[in-house]
Amino acid sequence: MSRPADRLRVAMQKSGRLSDPARNLLKQAGFQFRSSDKDQLFCYGDGCAVDLVLVRDDDIPQLIAENVCDLGIVGRNVLQEKALELRGTAHAGLQELMPLAFGGCRLSLAVPNGLDWRGPSDLDGRRIATSYPELLGEYLQQQGIGAEIVALKGSVEIAIKLGKADAICDLVSSGATLVANGLKETEILLQSEAVLACQNTPFGDGRDALLADFLARIDGVMKVQASKLILCQTGKRELDAVLRLLPDAVAPVISPVWGDDEALNVQALCTSAVTWQRLEAMKSAGARGLMVLPVEKLLA
Ligand code: ATP
Ligand code: MG
Repeated sequence: MSRPADRLRVAMQKSGRLSDPARNLLKQAGFQFRSSDKDQLFCYGDGCAVDLVLVRDDDIPQLIAENVCDLGIVGRNVLQEKALELRGTAHAGLQELMPLAFGGCRLSLAVPNGLDWRGPSDLDGRRIATSYPELLGEYLQQQGIGAEIVALKGSVEIAIKLGKADAICDLVSSGATLVANGLKETEILLQSEAVLACQNTPFGDGRDALLADFLARIDGVMKVQASKLILCQTGKRELDAVLRLLPDAVAPVISPVWGDDEALNVQALCTSAVTWQRLEAMKSAGARGLMVLPVEKLLA
């Protein structure tokens, strides 16, 4: 099916863990949509060439693969599972464009607490319940383990209690669900987070330019979220020690202080966490009047 060349159609989760952060990300990037009603399946871009399709997260990779949508915001776990499933078919060719730093979790193996775990080969000849049969299958093959995969759509964590499996392979974030079910995490198969996904070939029409602008804005928001501007003064002799505590600052600006030949102004855009410990260390190194400011917009 051909798609209009003058608009980008982005698929995202209608309701679930990824919906609010995905909407916020688009909002921060300046994209607005005519319908803010979450029950609408389709939202038109208001003053921008980006439209939204709201669906179940599992459907997002397929919609991209079939050209129904141009882009998607989806967990890496769902994207990679579908990419493996579509391998060798006419719809192969999904790719991850950019990690989005929310929806963090991991796909892990877990076994009953009481089991004495020596390593993945303990799973030889066992049954493992999962909603990710492709990712698990690939892992088992790489490890040379002959286990039976019990594919379940949900409630994987109770499969052992129900006698359907000896181990599970499921998404974990805090680990509380595993603990509540008497399970322990043994191996991590995949570190996941929400990502921007699309096909791995250019559109070959006006959407390539739209995509480049879209990515530049999303990238700007991601950098802003991680960025803080630090302002302070320091003595010339202490400057090196202060700068050593700003290894993530790209080209800090150092300027003279009016009326004080020994003092310098430091202005640094930091791209990793600015903690109290770091500020205290800077103060001990000779920084004065430390100020940390949020960054509102960045366009590289
Ligand atoms: P849908 O109705 O859209 O199919 P869902 O129930 O499959 O929703 P959610 O539970 O909302 O999906 O999870 C969406 C994504 O959030 C997961 O695919 C995963 O990438 C991410 N995620 C982060 N933490 C967790 C977690 N603890 N458990 C499950 N998914 C998590
Ligand atoms: Mg789902």
